[in-house]
Amino acid sequence: MKHPNQVIIDLASLRHNFSQARAAFGDRPLLAVVKADAYGHGAVEVARALTDEDAEMFGVAHPVEGARLRAAGIDRPILLFCGAHPDDAGDLADQELTPMLFDLELARALDAAGRARGRVLPVHLKIDTGMGRAGFRPEQVDEVLAILAGLDHVRIDGVVSHLALADDVANPFTARQYETFAACVERVRAAGFNPRWLHLSNSPGLFGQNFPLCNLARPGISLYGGLPGESFRHLDLQPVMRFVSRIAQVNRLPAGSGISYGHRFVTERDSLVAAVPVGYSDGYPRLVTNRAEVLVRGRRIRQIGTVCMNWILLDVTDHPDVRIGDRVTLLGRDGDGLISGDELAGWAQTIDYEVFCSIGSRNPRQYLRA
Ligand SMILES: *Cc1c(COP(=O)(O)O)cnc(C)c1O
Repeated sequence: MKHPNQVIIDLASLRHNFSQARAAFGDRPLLAVVKADAYGHGAVEVARALTDEDAEMFGVAHPVEGARLRAAGIDRPILLFCGAHPDDAGDLADQELTPMLFDLELARALDAAGRARGRVLPVHLKIDTGMGRAGFRPEQVDEVLAILAGLDHVRIDGVVSHLALADDVANPFTARQYETFAACVERVRAAGFNPRWLHLSNSPGLFGQNFPLCNLARPGISLYGGLPGESFRHLDLQPVMRFVSRIAQVNRLPAGSGISYGHRFVTERDSLVAAVPVGYSDGYPRLVTNRAEVLVRGRRIRQIGTVCMNWILLDVTDHPDVRIGDRVTLLGRDGDGLISGDELAGWAQTIDYEVFCSIGSRNPRQYLRA
């Protein structure tokens, strides 16, 4: 059976973006962020492609995401951004999943799991230098280090923090975060630990800052051709995701016809209206109602009326050649035309990250390998 809607993932563009990120990081190692099913692009396929490109590590949010990568044969180190429940410590050991550590209960559970297996388990110590989210606070670090020093089967393999304002390149807060981070790293070393990996940067940090201390960066959105922030429009990043549907019907409606729920669009002239079987249940945001444009035959066409669960409507009055079965591109490239994630996100009052996640995870995906 054929689904009318498809997400097409261009792995050549993904690889291109990865090499752009690597060049921007001075050829130092990269941890490719593949959480949320690689922002909707498919974590297994993305991790396979980027293993070929020699990604040093992969990053996911939760242990189950890491286990899925292991089951698919991904053998690079995998970092768990949201930690793990202490009950899962044994599974982390067996699957070789490394948590960002911000919870001493987990540290103790890992120590026990490591002892039972005769192994020392790696963690990356997570410090909150100003994101105000997860992580040990700088003022807790000494106490945490003292406790970790007593856990023989846990090793601090990395020290990590996360930037809150890096998309605003000139914001001085980022430098303050780096200084706090560097001071914490000093204390980790002074306590006798020798962490191999020091990392702070997401995509905007990687492309917009220089942190001499760091030897690993964690790009996500830039790998997928998204926009890490307004100051990054000049970067040579290629869109990876394309979302397509097909015209299911074309109707001729007289002037004054109400369109879709609530009649939030009323035709001002005799109109040709095309119906496309895609809607918010497919991750196409309802908030774009009366605002979005799509590409048909390489031309931009206006979306009209309320976005339904499974339908949108297009005003094709000026494009009478449009036919049932024509491909509709809702996101990504069609010939020379492009609906960027950023543009679609703007119509939906959100960010491209969310658009990629919701569209990519709800539709059948097809991979272009080229
Ligand atoms: C999601 C995430 C990243 C990647 O951020 P992008 O802006 O997508 O590059 C890096 N580090 C952490 C801790 C994250 O949660």
